[in-house]
Amino acid sequence: MSDIVITGVTVFKVRLPVVSERRQGSGITKDAVTNIFVKLDTDAGIVGWGEAATSATFPGGTEAHMAALHIYFRPLVMGADPFRIEQIMEQAERAVVHGAEAKAGLEMALFDIVGKALGTPVCNLLGGAYRDEIPLSFSIANPDLGADVEMAKRLYDDGLRIFKVKTGAAGHAEDLRRLETLRAELAPDVDLRVDYNQALDVFDAIPKLRDVEAFRPTFIEQPVNIDRIDAMAEITRALDTPIMADESAFSPADALAIARLRAADIISIKVMKGGMLNVRRISAVAQAAGIPCYGGDMAESGLGHLAGTHVIAATPNISLGCEFYQATYYLKEDILAAPFPVVNGKVQVPTTPGLGIDVDEDKLAKYTIERLT
Ligand code: MG
Repeated sequence: MSDIVITGVTVFKVRLPVVSERRQGSGITKDAVTNIFVKLDTDAGIVGWGEAATSATFPGGTEAHMAALHIYFRPLVMGADPFRIEQIMEQAERAVVHGAEAKAGLEMALFDIVGKALGTPVCNLLGGAYRDEIPLSFSIANPDLGADVEMAKRLYDDGLRIFKVKTGAAGHAEDLRRLETLRAELAPDVDLRVDYNQALDVFDAIPKLRDVEAFRPTFIEQPVNIDRIDAMAEITRALDTPIMADESAFSPADALAIARLRAADIISIKVMKGGMLNVRRISAVAQAAGIPCYGGDMAESGLGHLAGTHVIAATPNISLGCEFYQATYYLKEDILAAPFPVVNGKVQVPTTPGLGIDVDEDKLAKYTIERLT
């Protein structure tokens, strides 16, 4: 608790141009991603920033998340003590069903304020830094595979060793051709992973995935539909390669269902799955079942990635790296006031107060298409 009071809420709809098209099993990103930023002002002069990524290739619904923040969460936080994060988030949970991304954006801004008020990085509010850097994965999803191979080689020279191939968008034969090309073109020590984003049909998923296993992926992510955890369990039993649940694991209750059915070997953690506290609950359920976690993303910019970095830093069970590459390698311009910290293929955990880097408000204004106060 504190004597600080939230005095203002501003919600920004922001269109961030990207360097290339991306195709994945759940949809296509072209030209730009549209995300939401939220700014909380306080009577102490401290400002908190949050981001809600509303990727069109994931749940989408940018306008719904804008409304959640502007109409439903605003009255919960105006005049509230920003240190009461659990209390505010429980109220947000009651005010809006679903809306995990909007809730994550709100919670992120609250943590940013608390960290700044205490003069400490957010990871110190979550148990402290268990790790100081996180191996970075880049996603191969450009329909122009040659361009992505060149990109991957450049990133390899930057120190990246993890690459995740988005499969399921162009058919099985094309997926095998792309994997064959990548294994032939990239260095032998590359850690290759595969993400279907739910694209496979249940009836022939197992034989297709057996073909994919020949390319030695470290894991295969979300091969079938979000609701088919029965099929995920069958696939997990049938394959030698570990299976990761992403879309199927949005809540602690989802994680519990997956653990009970043994429907995955790994769970993807994303701050956008309801915020840092919520993903810690998902990770705790997973850990109790002996399931490690991975740091996924939903096309956040650098700000959202900072929150992801703090929660992974402070959570031992999120042990399989992260994919916080957009700010550095995918957006034409990120809107943080300093570059998102990546050194030698690893994300560096910020040591400065709050999330660690503020939004550059001039850059934010440049990409803002709607602003609600
Ligand atoms: Mg995924």
